[in-house]
Amino acid sequence: MSIYTSLDSVKEYLIKCMKCGNCQAVCPIFKETLKEVGVARGKISLVERLLDGKIEMTEGLADRFSLCTTCMACNANCPNAVPFDKIILAARAEAVRRKGLHPIKKVIFKTLKLQRLFDFGMKTGSKFQGLAMKRIEGKDYGARLRFDVGLGKDKVFPNLAPKTFRSSYKKVVEVPHPKMRVGFFTGCMINYFYTDMGKAVVDVLTANDIEVIIPSEQGCCGIPASVNGDIASAKDMAKRNLQAFENAGADAIIVSCSSCGSAWKHSYGELMEGDPEYQAIADKWKKKTYDINEFLVKVVPFKKEGLGRIDRKVTYHDPCHLNRGQGINKEPREILKSIPGIQLIEMKEPGRCCGMAGSFSIVHPDLSLKISDKKIADIAGTKTETVATGCPACRLQLHSGVVNAGLDQNVVHVIQLLAESYAEGRK
Ligand code: SF4
Ligand code: SF4
Repeated sequence: MSIYTSLDSVKEYLIKCMKCGNCQAVCPIFKETLKEVGVARGKISLVERLLDGKIEMTEGLADRFSLCTTCMACNANCPNAVPFDKIILAARAEAVRRKGLHPIKKVIFKTLKLQRLFDFGMKTGSKFQGLAMKRIEGKDYGARLRFDVGLGKDKVFPNLAPKTFRSSYKKVVEVPHPKMRVGFFTGCMINYFYTDMGKAVVDVLTANDIEVIIPSEQGCCGIPASVNGDIASAKDMAKRNLQAFENAGADAIIVSCSSCGSAWKHSYGELMEGDPEYQAIADKWKKKTYDINEFLVKVVPFKKEGLGRIDRKVTYHDPCHLNRGQGINKEPREILKSIPGIQLIEMKEPGRCCGMAGSFSIVHPDLSLKISDKKIADIAGTKTETVATGCPACRLQLHSGVVNAGLDQNVVHVIQLLAESYAEGRK
């Protein structure tokens, strides 16, 4: 029984909750709303009552289940190790089973499944984005929406790339004497917006004699669909990716997005439950999927010779799904500290959620902004020039916050600094 197919699957977790309230102290939603429904304990009580038949699944209840960034801070602070992320994902899937999916989400996830149509939409969007988005002058600052459509009028979005990342590369990026062949799962943010991050991943891997395969058949990881309860769409997307990488003939899969990493490591196996053929493929790749930081520190390890100097003060934000989700927090710091000239200055609470959480920031823009404001204040306190992180979605949120706070920091993925250092070394 999977969390995606039955709410009964989380009963074993619900009984572990002793209602101590320790989760309140760390929950970003509770800190802003001060409402019990914001915190894990409150939502656990609602799921229990739903399972007991004491309450009905209503639109209002589904809305309450949307009040969570799935940051897993409550998991980490729970004396009984209640995996609240599993409970909330199961509750959202149940909401969709009982009440159906919101029509807008239905259209979005359907389009995400139709890769060619989605590619065409994004390509067309890149040409006409000026109609809906007003570019911010200055460094590569991105753009704000011209009209307030409820997404937060000040939010700064990255510009859509004129050419997608995957279409800019050959299917195989060869190196003279490859140590390994890896498949690069790019995810949507890198493919359509942050092509600079994707380029840095390829540059660093090839600088370390790793051949990179970029399967063109890959698409969205499916996490946006699964966290919103659209399990049928998430399964379709997972199957497409599993097949694409099964066909690619790589030794391992590399990801540089924390949500995509969680999809391959944690979600695909559970989504494929009941489908032995695909479950076997998912289980196989789960053990061979690495976040780029993890891969460079634990598997390769990356070359220290040839690193050029970058004189810069840098602070690091831990993405929730990389830090608590995959236990990766030392590796990015090890990479940063190994770059000559980089001074790593830790912010207060680097592991606190930035408030992005994918569609959470769209459904709850005001709350997302309040959570972000605290993170940006911590960043400002470091007086650094650069914010490094390990996830493109966090990069978007932090960049928006930094620009709106009038700070001058640029926000990048750790791998971009490493690529820059190798480039300096080659000069
Ligand atoms: S900290 Fe854990 S056991 Fe305590 S109320 Fe929260 S979820 Fe329940
Ligand atoms: S996962 Fe994060 S946002 Fe959700 S209830 Fe737990 S601490 Fe709060």
